[in-house]
Amino acid sequence: MIMLDIIEKKKLGRELTREELRFFARAAGERTVPDYQLAALLMAIRLNGMTDREVANLTMEMRDSGDVADLSGIPGIKVDKHSTGGVGDTTTLVLAPLAAACGAPVAKMSGRGLGHTGGTLDKLESIPGLSVSMSVKAFIRQVKEIGLVVAAQTGHLAPADKTLYALRDVTSTVDSLPLIVSSIMSKKLASGADAIVLDVKTGSGALMHTLEESLELAKRMVQVGKMAGKPVAALVTGMDQPLGTHVGNALEVKEAIDILAGRTTGDLLEVALALGGHMLVLSGKAKNREEGVQQMLRALESGAGLNKLKQMIAAQGGNPAVCDDVSLLPRAAVIRQITCNAAGWVRRMDTTALGLASQAMGAGRKTKEDKLDYSVGYILKVRIGDRVEKDTPLCELHARNEAEADEAERAVRQAVEIGSQPVGRAKLFFAEITADETTIY
Ligand code: URA
Ligand code: CA
Repeated sequence: MIMLDIIEKKKLGRELTREELRFFARAAGERTVPDYQLAALLMAIRLNGMTDREVANLTMEMRDSGDVADLSGIPGIKVDKHSTGGVGDTTTLVLAPLAAACGAPVAKMSGRGLGHTGGTLDKLESIPGLSVSMSVKAFIRQVKEIGLVVAAQTGHLAPADKTLYALRDVTSTVDSLPLIVSSIMSKKLASGADAIVLDVKTGSGALMHTLEESLELAKRMVQVGKMAGKPVAALVTGMDQPLGTHVGNALEVKEAIDILAGRTTGDLLEVALALGGHMLVLSGKAKNREEGVQQMLRALESGAGLNKLKQMIAAQGGNPAVCDDVSLLPRAAVIRQITCNAAGWVRRMDTTALGLASQAMGAGRKTKEDKLDYSVGYILKVRIGDRVEKDTPLCELHARNEAEADEAERAVRQAVEIGSQPVGRAKLFFAEITADETTIY
């Protein structure tokens, strides 16, 4: 097979065969074709799109470009969860312990922070002593023993995506639905779960800003799951403001613990419950989403969820006492309260800018080599729709030094718009998509 012929075919907008897509995925994984040819095909795909069958075939070939984790040694139906990335989005740390406490085995491979969005692994590593890297054997043993593990990708999973994602980043081909779907789903399918729950974000801090695009992304991922033989359910949820109130690694762990301890609620808990409800349905622990949500709530109220998180932290070498005393988490040198400085209504937030502000404080990486400061970030005190006065608290900044606190203060003030007219609350749930039906709220 010749790469040039495949490029030519897609350039003319024709459908590629499974064999051609296999050649492309292998070439990307093994780097046997020059980057300029891979990039040319990526651009042709970006411009001419792909049929559902092509997307499913590309996804499966990218999955098979490396190892596929075998979790069959773990009894029960393993459900994974994936988010397309948000700010203040700690849903995994809330829902994974709750779902595990309800008897659903959770074997989750997570990622690091990317751009303006945080990563679950970085958050977990803010817990003193905790390790997210382990062998496949240890990963499986931990799920068997306590029903819950959240760790780094083990083995050599979907190497084609590694190559292609890096090329897309530098060739303006990230924003292609077929390429996003195959990138995300190939990794999820390679990580060995039996079923997948997806949280597709929409709004100012999301990969896809418009509802139409987010909905299309969700539908296509569910469709690909179906074609690959794995049940997938997707929710489209709002990212017009940070999901939780806390942004930053240790701060987000603190918020997850506060929720599991019953000290606080909010949008983060709502989304975690909705996704968890679907997880329990797919794992066969609940008849429908409502029943799943009720089970999750019982695990929250009884403290079983917090206890499960404690067990996981201990199993991964971390100090479980953080669950009883959040002051054991890293604490920033400078803590500054800022107020709104204007009266009115919180009208809009630039959520991507808020994510970048936390990254600039040291909570995220600008290059792969950057070392994180787990203590930094901020706690937002307002939500869209709130009535505020000049002296209403806006934000609590946790910074390494005064200069970085100044910079973050400017960024947060600019990202949070206060207007003179009342505005409604931001919508949280937009759509729910399963293999059989799509519900738009
Ligand atoms: N996240 C991924 O893993 N891949 C994409 O293409 C976009 C977001
Ligand atoms: Ca996340």
